[in-house]
Amino acid sequence: MAEVVLKGVVKRYAGDVLAVRSLDLEIADGELVVLVGPSGCGKSTTLRMIAGLEDITAGELVIGGRRVNEVPPRDRDIAMVFQSYALYPHMTVRQNMAFGLELRKVDKAEIARRVDEAARMLDLDGLLERKPKALSGGQRQRVAMGRAIVRQPSVFLFDEPLSNLDARLRVQMRVEIARLHRRLGTTMVYVTHDQVEAMTLADRIAIMSMGELQQCGSPMEVYHRPVNRFVAGFMGSPGMNFVPGRVAREGGALRFRGAGLDLAFDARQEAALGEASLDGEVTLGVRPHHLVQVGAGGDVSATVEHVERMGAESFAHATLPGGVTVVARLPGGQPVTVGQPMRLQVERDQLHLFDAAGVNLLRGAIRDERTQGEAA
Ligand code: ADP
Repeated sequence: MAEVVLKGVVKRYAGDVLAVRSLDLEIADGELVVLVGPSGCGKSTTLRMIAGLEDITAGELVIGGRRVNEVPPRDRDIAMVFQSYALYPHMTVRQNMAFGLELRKVDKAEIARRVDEAARMLDLDGLLERKPKALSGGQRQRVAMGRAIVRQPSVFLFDEPLSNLDARLRVQMRVEIARLHRRLGTTMVYVTHDQVEAMTLADRIAIMSMGELQQCGSPMEVYHRPVNRFVAGFMGSPGMNFVPGRVAREGGALRFRGAGLDLAFDARQEAALGEASLDGEVTLGVRPHHLVQVGAGGDVSATVEHVERMGAESFAHATLPGGVTVVARLPGGQPVTVGQPMRLQVERDQLHLFDAAGVNLLRGAIRDERTQGEAA
């Protein structure tokens, strides 16, 4: 097993495309780190550099204590699982899984033992003599994983492995990969654009945007305490609400005003805001789950535009004064009528405030919800 360390890693493609800018990331031995971000943010390039499929323009890549910048892929002791399963159609499942080991001249009995073990782990025992065309998409992806597992690498690299599967199967395979990781205890680096996959799989999530690492932390850390507006908006579904406004000091208290909201910050939040420059426009961030419908009172009145019923919960899309649309989470059965006003209350201790550069000024003041289930 091995840790993976990227030190100031840069990738510049021909044509002067700066795909990855000075990336620093330490992935501990046995850790599952998910690289996530929108299309084009540089996550696949990063993974491909770790795999050795792309040259590193600058910086250093260390796997298991050894600098591997110049080491060819086959000598890096890694195995990669791709979105396209790339199975050999004329070979059986067993042959597909055994092939890489045969090339490496591994002993026949040892190959058979490893293939059988991987097949058991992946629930493929009954399918070993089938050809890929007689398998479902999920089974094919499991064969692709089996082929990686039999290699017994120090590091597994996954590049959007579930993108070709339907939604239900994706959820199932996600659980299987998490279980596999627990069982093997091998370092894994996993690339996806899907923040739900990142949240549910990762020990730590590394969020990238435009070639730069924005934040790396546990799922609950990046969800509850995003460093900036990009991370805040990317993680969580439905996404965080953003309300433009201004901060002013009145009668000794700092207040946010915008889109009909007028909120006083508490002492903890004031302390976090400290000496931050609050002139000019700022953006308040509130998750749908922290925007609560109340019968009367509350902070603001909003007009319901649309209701998404999920069953156990509903999401009301509503317009604040000034035309800002927000989403509020409601209990599933709660009656709401499109076109009618609703009263909303903002949970004060879950506020985010972003300055003009997008920095989350209230990150230090967010009530800590991380203990809820984090260690489980
Ligand atoms: P992601 O995996 O996050 O979608 P990529 O790592 O594939 O992003 O790409 C990052 C950036 O590098 C994008 O702007 C992409 O167009 C560019 N890029 C990727 N591969 C190449 C290549 N072979 N040549 C030139 N530019 C590339």
